[in-house]
Amino acid sequence: MRLVLVGPPGSGKGTQAALLHQRLGAAHIGTGDILREAVEADGPIGKLVEPYVRSGQLVPDDVVNELVTALFRRADRPQNFVMDGYPRTLAQAMAFDATLRQGFLDLQRVFLFTIADDLVVKRISGRRKCSNPTCEGVFHAYFRLAKVPGVCDICGKPLVQRPDDKESVIRERLRLYHASTGELIGYYRQRGLLHEVPAAAEVESIYQTIVGLIPA
Ligand code: AMP
Repeated sequence: MRLVLVGPPGSGKGTQAALLHQRLGAAHIGTGDILREAVEADGPIGKLVEPYVRSGQLVPDDVVNELVTALFRRADRPQNFVMDGYPRTLAQAMAFDATLRQGFLDLQRVFLFTIADDLVVKRISGRRKCSNPTCEGVFHAYFRLAKVPGVCDICGKPLVQRPDDKESVIRERLRLYHASTGELIGYYRQRGLLHEVPAAAEVESIYQTIVGLIPA
C-alpha cells in the first residue's frame, strides 16, 4: 500500500498509521516524529527546525522535502508506506510526486481526516506523557485520567505536556492547517485519489473504513 493521511493535528492520523504498520506491515513515515527526533538529537537540522516545531509553525518545504526524499532515495526505500503529516502543502505534494516517480512508485490513496476544530483542541490540550524518557506512559486530562493528577501511573514520575500541545499553539496549528491544505486537497481530489474519513468515529471503525478502500 502507498497511502497519504491528511488531517489536522489530533485527528488520529498517527494512530491509524501505527495500526497499518502493526497489522499490515506498512512503513509509518511521520514527519512530526522525524522532526522531533532531529530536535532531540540537537544536530544542525534539529537546531534549524526547533523554533518552528516548538511554536507549531510549518518547517520550510525544502527542509522537509529533503528529509523525505533522502528516505526514498535509499536502496531499502519503503515500497509499502503510510505518510503521516506529509505532504502538508501543495509544494510538498508536488515534490513528493517527483520523488516517488524517481523510485517508480505512485500513490494509491489519500485519506482526508475531517473533524471539528473544537474537538481537536480538547483532544490535544489534554494529552500528557510521562517525563521519564524510558517510560511509555501516555495519559489524557479528559479521556484517560492518571490515578493521581499529573503523576505517571506506571513509574510515578511527573506527567508533561508537549510544548506545541498548549491551546494557543494548537489554535495556531489549526489555522495553519486550514490555510495550507486547501490547495493540497484540491490537487489530490482532482487526481481522483482523495477519500474523506470522518475522524471523530471510533479508532477501529476508522481503521476498517481505510482498509476497505485500499486497493488489493
Ligand atoms: P505533527 O506531529 O505532525 O503535528 O508535527 C509537529 C510539527 O512538526 C508541526 O507543527 C510542524 O512544525 C512540523 N512538521 C511536521 N510535518 C511537517 C510538514 N510536512 N511540513 C512542515 N512542517 C512539518
